[in-house]
Amino acid sequence: MDKKTGLIFFPAFDWAISPTHPEREERLLYTRDQIFEEGVMDLPQIHEYAPRLASLHDVSRTHFCVPRVQSQVTEAHLIAAGSTLQLGDSVVNGEIKNGFAMVRPPGHHAMRVVHGNRGFCSINNEAILVEYLRRRHGIRKIAIVDSDAHHGDGTQDIFYHDPDLLFISFHQDGRTIFPGTGFTHELGGPGAYAKTLNVPLPPGTADESFMYVVDNLVLPVVKDFQPEIIINSAGQDNHYTDPLGSMRFTARAYADFTKKLQPHLAVLEGGYAIETALPYINLAIILALAGVDYSYVMEPDYWPGRFKESPERIGQVHRMVEQLLESWSQKDKVDLPKIFGDGKYYQRKKFIYYDTDYIEEEQFEKVRMCPDCPGYIILESRAERGYRSPVRIYAVSIPFQACHACQSEAYDIYEQAKKQKECDYVYMQDKTTDTCMSYEKNKGQEWVTEG
Ligand SMILES: [Zn+2]
Ligand SMILES: [Zn+2]
Ligand SMILES: [Zn+2]
Repeated sequence: MDKKTGLIFFPAFDWAISPTHPEREERLLYTRDQIFEEGVMDLPQIHEYAPRLASLHDVSRTHFCVPRVQSQVTEAHLIAAGSTLQLGDSVVNGEIKNGFAMVRPPGHHAMRVVHGNRGFCSINNEAILVEYLRRRHGIRKIAIVDSDAHHGDGTQDIFYHDPDLLFISFHQDGRTIFPGTGFTHELGGPGAYAKTLNVPLPPGTADESFMYVVDNLVLPVVKDFQPEIIINSAGQDNHYTDPLGSMRFTARAYADFTKKLQPHLAVLEGGYAIETALPYINLAIILALAGVDYSYVMEPDYWPGRFKESPERIGQVHRMVEQLLESWSQKDKVDLPKIFGDGKYYQRKKFIYYDTDYIEEEQFEKVRMCPDCPGYIILESRAERGYRSPVRIYAVSIPFQACHACQSEAYDIYEQAKKQKECDYVYMQDKTTDTCMSYEKNKGQEWVTEG
C-alpha cells in the first residue's frame, strides 16, 4: 500500500480571543463530528498523530517575540506549532506521504517581529515549520501556497528576502478585506525577487477563476521552482458561506486544488463558517490528500452552476496571471539595482497594525545587499500599545546561507546596538549556528538559547 496521510487534530479548547469571537474552538468541532461520522479516522490510508509542543527555541529561530517568546504564546500556540513539526518530521522521515495539521490558533498573519496578536495570529506555524525543517533536516527549498481569503502577510514578511522560499498567496483583494496588502507589485526583496507572488482576487471570485489561477500560475511556478517540500496554508474562508470573506469557492474546488498541488503538509489557517463550510472542506482536503474519492462531498445547499462569474472578472484574473507569469519568467533577467538601488543596504519602512491587540508598529527593515549570500536583516521597530509606553527593539537576523563576512558583520552590529542603540531590547537570530540571543537594556541581562 501507498504511504499514509498523517492527521493531527487540535481544536485548542482553552484558547479563544473572546467567547463570542469567530476564532474559537467550535471552529473545529463540527469538522470533528463530520470526520468521525464518515469514519475517516478508521480508513487504512489515515494515520492519526498526537500533537506535540514546539520549543520556545523553535519559535525564536523564526520570530523576535517582544519581550520574549513566553510573553506572546500560550501552551495552545506551542501545540499548534508543534503539531506541524510532528507532521513535518513524519513526512521527511518517510513515515507518511503527506499530512494535515488541523490545528488552531492560526498563524499566517504573524510576522518576524511579534508585539502581539494580529488577525488572530501570534506565531506563524508554517514559518516555524520551514525553519525547523531546514535546521533539523537540512532541507533548503520550500514552497508555501496560501489559499486563505486573507493575504498571508506574516509569511510574506518573514520570507520576503529568502531566495529559497517560494511564497504564493491568492486571496480576496486587499482593498476589500484585512490586512489590506497582497498586491501584484509585492514581489520580494532584491535577493528574492519574484519569489513572492500575490494574486488579489475580486470579491465574488468563484471556482472557475480559482482553478484558472491554480492551473496556470500556481502549478507551473511551483514545478519550475522545484521545492523539496510543499506546504499549503489551508485557509478556508474563501468559501461561499464564510462570514468574514466575500468569495465563492466550494469544498470541491478546495479538494481539486489539494489534489493538483499535492502538498506534503497542509496547515489549517482561517475559515469561519464552522457549520456550513469547514466540515466539508476539511473532509474533502483529507480525502484528496489520502487519494480517496471525494466526489460525493458537497455542501447541502450547493448545486453545480450556482455561481457564475462575469466575463469581465474572468478577463481580469487572466490578465493578472499573465502579468505574474511574466514577473516569474523575468526574475533572473531584471535590472535589480534599478528597482532596489545599489547601496550597501536595501531599506524599507513598514507600518503594521495589530487589529486584535490594537498595537501600531513602525518598522525599518534593512537588508545587507551581499554579492555572496542573501545578506543579514536588521530591524528597528517601535510599537505603540494604547496608553502604555511604547516599546522599541533592535534585531539582527542571519540567514542559513550567510557568508562569513555577513555573519561577523551582523555580530558586530548586535554588540554595538547593545551598547549604543536607544531601545529596550536587542535581539540576534543566527540561523547558521542556530543561536538566538536577546538583551534587555535596563537590566543589562542577556539570554542565549541554542537548538
Ligand atoms: Zn492567501
Ligand atoms: Zn483568513
Ligand atoms: Zn554575505
